[in-house]
Amino acid sequence: DAKARGRGQVRAYDRAMHQRAEDRRALEFDLKSAIDLNQLRLVYQPVVNALDERVVAFEALLRWRHPIRGEISPAMFIPIAEESGLISRIGAWVLHEAARAAASWPRNIRIAVNLSPLQFDDPKLVETVRLALARANVAAERLELELTESLFLDERSQTAAMLADLKALGVSFALDDFGTGYSSLGYLQKIPFDRIKIDRSFVQTSARGGSEAVAIVQAIVALAGRLGMETTAEGTETRDEFEAMRRLGCTQMQGWHFGRPMALEETHRVLDRNRPLVELVEGPERSGERPVSRLALPM
Ligand code: C2E
Ligand code: MG
Ligand code: MG
Ligand code: MG
Repeated sequence: DAKARGRGQVRAYDRAMHQRAEDRRALEFDLKSAIDLNQLRLVYQPVVNALDERVVAFEALLRWRHPIRGEISPAMFIPIAEESGLISRIGAWVLHEAARAAASWPRNIRIAVNLSPLQFDDPKLVETVRLALARANVAAERLELELTESLFLDERSQTAAMLADLKALGVSFALDDFGTGYSSLGYLQKIPFDRIKIDRSFVQTSARGGSEAVAIVQAIVALAGRLGMETTAEGTETRDEFEAMRRLGCTQMQGWHFGRPMALEETHRVLDRNRPLVELVEGPERSGERPVSRLALPM
C-alpha cells in the first residue's frame, strides 16, 4: 500500500544520503594524500584580448585524477578541501605550480589563480604568495588572484589587511563569476579589483539576445569602466558569443571558442603561434592567416 511504499522511499532516500556521506568521507580521505601521490595537476586556459584575440594570460585550473574514480571535477572536490581544512595546503601547491608555469612563458603573459575565501583563514597566505613568486622568479604584476563574491561575507579585519598586503606585493585581483553571488556593489569600493569576470550565464543569454542579460552586461561594463576595471567574458563558447560580448565592450575573453584548459606543454605551442599581429600582416606567407582586425596593440 501507499504507506509501505512511502516507508520504502524513505529508506531508499536514507540509504542514498548515507551513501553520499560515505563517498564524501572517502574522497576527503583520498584528497589528503593527493598532492603527495602526484594526483593533482594544473591545466591552463587562455585568456585573450578582445580586440586582436591574442593570448594575454592563462587561468590555472586544478584537476584531480583519482586512481579509481578517474577525473574528479574541482566543483566537487574544492568544497571538500574547504570543509576539511585542506584548501590552504592545496592552494599553496597551486600557487607554487602556477608561478612555475608563468616562469616558462614570455613576461607579457600573466597567470590567473583562483583563491578560495577560506584560504584567508591561513595567516601565512600572503607569505605563501610572495614565496611562490620569488621561488619562480616571477614578478608579482604577472599574478592575478581570482576572488569570488563569497569573500564579501568575510568582514574580518585580518582579511582586509591580507588583501592590502597582497595588493602591496603588486598582484592584481579579479572578481570571479560576477553576477551569480551576493553582488553587493558596495564591496567594489572596498576591495581594489582590477577586473570583473562576467559569468558564463550572462554571456550565453546575452548572445541569444536576452534583453535583460544584455542590459546587465552593459551595466557591468559601464560600472567597471567608471571604476577603472577591465571586464572578461567567461565561458565564451562560440563566435557569436564572442562577437556579442565584444560589441558590449568586454575587453577580454575566455572560453572554449579560444581554447580549452590545456597542459603546460600545450600552452607553449599556443604561445609560439601568438606572435604580434604586425608580423602576421607583414609576413607574406602568413598574411590573412587569421580573420582578425588589423589593430595590433603593443602589450
Ligand atoms: P572558475 O574559476 O569560474 O573557472 C571557470 C570554469 O569554467 C572552469 O571550470 C573552466 O574549465 C570552465 N570553462 C571555461 N571555458 C568554458 C566554456 O567555454 N564553456 C563552459 N561551459 N565552461 C567553460 P573548472 O575547471 O571545472 O573549474 C570549476 C571551478 O572550480 C572554477 O570556476 C573555480 O571556482 C574552481 N577552481 C578550479 N581550480 C581551482 C583552484 O586551483 N583553486 C580554487 N580555490 N578553486 C578552483
Ligand atoms: Mg576563475
Ligand atoms: Mg569564473
Ligand atoms: Mg564561472
